[in-house]
Amino acid sequence: MSYQNWRLETTADQILMLYFDKQNSSVNTLDHQVMDELSNIIDTLANDTTHKGVIIASGKKSGFIAGADISQFTKFKDIDAAYEVLTKGQHIFNKLEALKMPTVAMIDGFCLGGGAELALACRYRVAEENSRLGLPEVKLGIYPGWGGTVRLVRLIGAFQGLNLILTGQTVSGKAAAKMGVVDVAVPKRQLLHAAKYYILKQPPVHQPSTIQSLTNKKLSRQIIGSYLRKKMKAKVNPLHYPAPFNALDNWEHVGVDNPEVALEREAKGCAKLFFSDTCQNLVRVFFLQEKMKGLAKDTSFNPQHIHVIGAGTMGGDIAAWCALRGFTVTLQDLEPRYIAPAIKRAHALFKDKLKERYLIEAAMDRLIPDVAGYGLPKADLIIEAVVEDLSIKQNIFKMIEAKAKPQAILATNTSSIPLDEINTVLQLPERLVGIHYFNPVAKMQLVEVVKGDRTSPMVVEKAISFVRKIDRLPLPVKSSPGFLVNRILMPYLLESVELLNEGIPMTAIDKAMVNFGMPMGPITLADTVGLDVCLSVAKYLGKYFHTPIPQRLVELVEKRKLGKKTGEGFYKYDKNGKQIRPHQPPYDKPLEPIADRLVLRMLNEAFACLREGVVANGDLLDAGMIFGTGFAPFRGGPIHYAKSQGIHTLYEQFVKQCEARGEKISMQSWEEEDEEKVG
Ligand code: NAD
Repeated sequence: MSYQNWRLETTADQILMLYFDKQNSSVNTLDHQVMDELSNIIDTLANDTTHKGVIIASGKKSGFIAGADISQFTKFKDIDAAYEVLTKGQHIFNKLEALKMPTVAMIDGFCLGGGAELALACRYRVAEENSRLGLPEVKLGIYPGWGGTVRLVRLIGAFQGLNLILTGQTVSGKAAAKMGVVDVAVPKRQLLHAAKYYILKQPPVHQPSTIQSLTNKKLSRQIIGSYLRKKMKAKVNPLHYPAPFNALDNWEHVGVDNPEVALEREAKGCAKLFFSDTCQNLVRVFFLQEKMKGLAKDTSFNPQHIHVIGAGTMGGDIAAWCALRGFTVTLQDLEPRYIAPAIKRAHALFKDKLKERYLIEAAMDRLIPDVAGYGLPKADLIIEAVVEDLSIKQNIFKMIEAKAKPQAILATNTSSIPLDEINTVLQLPERLVGIHYFNPVAKMQLVEVVKGDRTSPMVVEKAISFVRKIDRLPLPVKSSPGFLVNRILMPYLLESVELLNEGIPMTAIDKAMVNFGMPMGPITLADTVGLDVCLSVAKYLGKYFHTPIPQRLVELVEKRKLGKKTGEGFYKYDKNGKQIRPHQPPYDKPLEPIADRLVLRMLNEAFACLREGVVANGDLLDAGMIFGTGFAPFRGGPIHYAKSQGIHTLYEQFVKQCEARGEKISMQSWEEEDEEKVG
């Protein structure tokens, strides 16, 4: 019998190779059809006496199985439909687990979510050393629902098993072998040989250690459960992210020793989670990310050599990131002493990311200090990241244009100077594009790709395609003051200083926004970015939008209290950069009004950006704010949040808030926005 997604081959030693090769897809994901076919195959294997065993492998060039098909997650008619899909999957994997013949999952590359659950239902698992294994479901607001929460914890005990499930963290093949998730991790060339060994020799199956088994007993579950719940609550709000808490509850109540009961509870709970706002919004964010990844996909721009001018905070880290991603990079600054710290930081980055010495050395070889600028005429892309000064930037671009290859892209990392002011000195102004990174470069996924009025669309496309090549998320924006992210963030930060002036303790302001779902509160954020940077952006934007600059900010900068980097800003910091909690009177009023006020300020600016066409639509705006500032992902982004709460209601609330403070509103109603743009 032939299948659309599975290929069956018998080896000379009578082993069945079951290759998963999903039709019309570059990646293996599990959907209805794939699972139905797998179910049929397993049924035939139940009566198969000709084969010695089955090896499940990927028929794709790379990757084993990426997980379940996420597009299904938002299409379930109701909770019962989701429950049915879950129990059906569980049933198929139970059949796989019950096969009499030995089964091996041969894992090469990613093995995630449903793919890992399939592997866990096999008798043995062998993995290529650098494969990535994990159950990242919590990142989409659910938990594993095809038996993963039961099988993994049973296999390796509660501590390591729950850690993987509750954090969604992935591990390498090597690490998985150490934990016992896979039986062995081997180099690629030995993978098939290892898989066959398990079929032909059938060594005893992996068993948890006595201690690991003990962790799953009732008394241990109560102790471990309350310990883990407390630990999780310190990091994650159960109201925002219920899934890991639910998974923990399930385990604590029913354990894993009675699979029937545990699987039933797993499926019931998971089916409900699909219908939570958190899951729906996180799935939306996943697809927004995919959309950004797909931008400029068909552009044929293959830069090999990048030249970066300015080796400071940004230029140095941009150069290091490009070298990490495999490009040859020359890094220019006025003197070698300005480049040295960047090279030191780059070494630390490579060590952290690449681990192996030969890879670190190769990356160091790709990053070349270049005071004389020898690399410039050879570069395919030149990124300028010198100080924020129009005339200095203009002089540099005149020099760049004279020396660069005619087809090279010229880019600036300016965070505020309009491109159409910089490009006036160029003979071909259409060559200049903004590639605006965020600080710290190695952490922030978003990069704004800025189009000036004169920038050629082709140059923008090439810049976007470059951003994808360095594994960052490109956000196309129009060159207007602050572009998108800083423009929206600044009024929010200034409003938080205004709240301080009104006597609200900074800890309360920060807590209000952390409770809302931000990774940190606005006052801590300002301290982290640097108050000097905030002040200069605020002054710059203030010129355009006539926003007043809070005196408190000016004073702190005058006193060189610049935030975390100088040990004091709004908060004080110890010598390790840890924030010292200030002694402040307790704030006993509700925090929600504080969050509302700050969020409304942000929304007002977000709608202004949409109206002015700074960004093409609400989806991209949401993605920009989530990946550029960490805006509560489970709320789906600012525009989506406004829609879910009712745009009109929020706008009226904003108007009231402004009127109460005697502030004039120049904004039109948010709702007058073009429906298509809001999305
Ligand atoms: P920085 O002061 O840390 O570094 C600037 C570097 O440029 C210095 O090393 C300086 O020696 C060098 N430089 C000055 N003139 C030069 C010249 N003629 N030739 C070669 N090198 C020269 O500044 P930064 O924070 O890295 O900012 C650089 C650019 O990036 C600015 O345009 C800034 O607006 C933008 N930016 C900064 C941030 C941030 O958070 N710091 C974020 C996004 C964008």
